[in-house]
Amino acid sequence: MSDSNTDFDFIVIGSGFGGSVTAHRLTEKGYRVAVMEMGRRWRAEDFPATNWVIWRWFWRPRLALRGFFNIQFFRHVVILHGCAVGGGSITYANTLLVPPDSVWQKGSWAGLADWNAEMPLHFQTAIRMLGVTENRVLGPADHFLKQAADAAGVGHTFYRTSVGVFQAPEGEEGGKTYPDPYFGGEGPERTTCIGCGGCMVGCRYNAKNSLDKNYLYLAEKHGAQIFAETRVVDVAPLNGKADGGAGYEVLTEKSTAWLAREPRRFTCRGIVFAASALGTMDLLLRLKQKGSLPALSDQVGNRVRTNAESLIGVRVPGCREDLSKGIAIGSGIYIDDHTHIEAVRYPAGSDAMGPLATLLTGGQPGRARILLWLRLLAWSLLRHPIRTARALHPFGWARESVIFLCMQTLDGHIDMRLRRRWFWPFGKILASQGKKIPTFIPQANEFARKAAALIGGRPMSMVTEILFNVPGTAHVLGGCPMAGSAAEGVVDSRNRVFGYQNMYICDGSVLAANLGVNPSLTICAVTERAMTHIPPAAEANWHDSAA
Ligand SMILES: Cc1cc2nc3c(=O)[nH]c(=O)nc-3n(C[C@H](O)[C@H](O)[C@H](O)COP(=O)(O)OP(=O)(O)OC[C@H]3O[C@@H](n4cnc5c(N)ncnc54)[C@H](O)[C@@H]3O)c2cc1C
Ligand code: SF4
Repeated sequence: MSDSNTDFDFIVIGSGFGGSVTAHRLTEKGYRVAVMEMGRRWRAEDFPATNWVIWRWFWRPRLALRGFFNIQFFRHVVILHGCAVGGGSITYANTLLVPPDSVWQKGSWAGLADWNAEMPLHFQTAIRMLGVTENRVLGPADHFLKQAADAAGVGHTFYRTSVGVFQAPEGEEGGKTYPDPYFGGEGPERTTCIGCGGCMVGCRYNAKNSLDKNYLYLAEKHGAQIFAETRVVDVAPLNGKADGGAGYEVLTEKSTAWLAREPRRFTCRGIVFAASALGTMDLLLRLKQKGSLPALSDQVGNRVRTNAESLIGVRVPGCREDLSKGIAIGSGIYIDDHTHIEAVRYPAGSDAMGPLATLLTGGQPGRARILLWLRLLAWSLLRHPIRTARALHPFGWARESVIFLCMQTLDGHIDMRLRRRWFWPFGKILASQGKKIPTFIPQANEFARKAAALIGGRPMSMVTEILFNVPGTAHVLGGCPMAGSAAEGVVDSRNRVFGYQNMYICDGSVLAANLGVNPSLTICAVTERAMTHIPPAAEANWHDSAA
């Protein structure tokens, strides 16, 4: 039964992939659900035309930047992530892939369930809800990837990505509006994709199947209350029941306010952390440290994975074709058993990420690579000053570039802790520790070099990879890994938090292995599975705890 002594049955913190699946499934089961989301709500017409409109693209509310995209710099990694009603789906590139079966045999979730037997059903559900289909809008960047793959002898691995995009029927132009095509009339009307490449700057054409068009839309329609611009700052057990058996108190503040933070208090019987790998880790580390949730496993912040990624690419100054056309991630290839490369693009005019790109340099990480890079820059500027300047200046970067997103299933992880840093002595912030993650994937670099030569372009990489030996990723995972006990992880195989009742984590933080593919579909599928174990509200079990 619903608990009428609390404001809500469940409060979900975060409205990304895990949070939206949770909100929809719990509402469907008859629970009273609230979703607290620190990001803003977006409509198609509010998205910026390009990412130079930085105040509507980037999220740093204290600097009056109230967009939906964020970059955080750590000693070991640069992390790109989303922040909005709909979480990362608002800024993501729509690519929804099923990982190889082998990932379930790696990491601390191995053996906790018969994953290979159970997961296909949950992937199917997530695929249906997110409207995943094969990309039909191949752009010049995709044809170029195919050409480069053929030249490298791996052309047979080329595939069109599976994307969550509403595409026009075969033979019809994009841009036509249809009544809800996915949920038998229950969902919103949608417009077909025009292949503008703008997915990561927000789809202005109502074609992208972001979560506010499916899971979250249905959750809200069926009664879930979504509190936008609301950051959760505290969660503590109610009525002196230390294990949360009597419910939880949730304290929030307005995330976009400068001074008047509008503190609020809510109560709920069950709580779901779905604030993304970074957000949930940060919040739980703080709550454990300040004594609100002291029984959390000491594993919070451990085994954070970067999906073994590297962002490189090719820029073709003066390219006759517009490489920004197509869907943000339109195709992919496998250059060996472990290494997967996708062709990524930003829309024409969205060049604000351009300053992060520089000439690709090999060599050993550290000072040697920096010297090599400086030598390469100097040599290149002396020999081809105009060509080099045209490869490095940001204007035209999106139109002239293909980004290669390289991912590996190989293992490797870091840990995150709260630390007071010399440059920010006023409070503790999340900081990474552990062994360095390799910045370069040599075989991917080689591929980029050959691809650049093929098209007459320059191979590029991220300046942070060269100067600071720090890889960049949009796919941070782990930090609250799924495991058999609190000594090894933070949640059990049903996403229940060790040490508390009716407390769950449903986001990328519970994933226990590098997937080698983009993770959002897996986050949805794992959450779908967790939700099947929660009974309908009429038979609620308010003493659900980790085995
Ligand atoms: C540019 C870019 C492109 C990407 N492309 C792809 C792709 O093509 N395919 C793919 O699979 N993945 C992609 N990703 C990654 C994908 O976005 C993430 O893996 C995914 O969104 C993670 O889902 P999640 O449920 O863990 O959390 P998220 O979707 O990140 O949602 C978490 C939400 O919680 C909110 N939150 C955090 N802390 C609090 C708090 N204290 N209180 C209230 N709310 C809070 C955040 O604002 C956020 O909206 C991309 C990411 C980026 C940045
Ligand atoms: S390519 Fe353009 S129209 Fe298609 S989903 Fe992406 S942003 Fe929307």
